[in-house]
Amino acid sequence: MLNNRDTQLDAEENAYGKHPIWRRVYALMKCDSSACHLGPYCWLDPVGKKHYRLRTQTLRRLVTYAEKGGVLESHKYVPDEIQEELYIEEQQRLEKEKRKGGNIAGPRTPYPPININVLPSHPARVDITAPTVSSVKSKGVSPLTIPGFRDVAVKEYGEWLASNVSDETLKATFRQASDVTLSDGFDLEHIYKDQNPEFFVGKGIKPGIARSFVENIRDWLENVKKAVPVLEVV
Ligand SMILES: [Zn+2]
Repeated sequence: MLNNRDTQLDAEENAYGKHPIWRRVYALMKCDSSACHLGPYCWLDPVGKKHYRLRTQTLRRLVTYAEKGGVLESHKYVPDEIQEELYIEEQQRLEKEKRKGGNIAGPRTPYPPININVLPSHPARVDITAPTVSSVKSKGVSPLTIPGFRDVAVKEYGEWLASNVSDETLKATFRQASDVTLSDGFDLEHIYKDQNPEFFVGKGIKPGIARSFVENIRDWLENVKKAVPVLEVV
């Protein structure tokens, strides 16, 4: 699967000239390491080969940088100022990790940790992340406001996910996830709020696709749909 994905990314790289800039940046920064749990997007420090999680706002800045003509052919081209920020963020993340179980909803938590999978059917996992999960639950996942027709948004989102892979089967599965969403009367705000890939798995969608479908809604909204999300300020 991973090798397959590498091949796809290579193919995308070769065809770079044809793709919009944001897509090139996203493809470049997409984390392919199965050992890495930071992603989905990481900066790989060319010196230490360490992974640094890229938040949506940082990705967006990289897109802006590239759109203004900045060269971004590999990870070492990431501008110094962004690299420095990533170092600092990583330091803060590590410190937070040390304090885990303590005051995790401190001032350095600008976003609710939406990547955590709250899967009731996996009690062991929920256990590991218990402090974070309970904090998410008590605050609730902040709702998204998606402009325009809800059904159209579901389709657009599925198309966007499909556009991020080159394999036709994967593309079709993302579209299938859109169809499943609509045929059960859901929209993206429901899917985002529930954070429940199991729903799609139960409908015959492959688990990885199901997770991508559930986890990338905010990313799509902020970077493609360009809407302003309703964020709860902690
Ligand atoms: Zn990574």
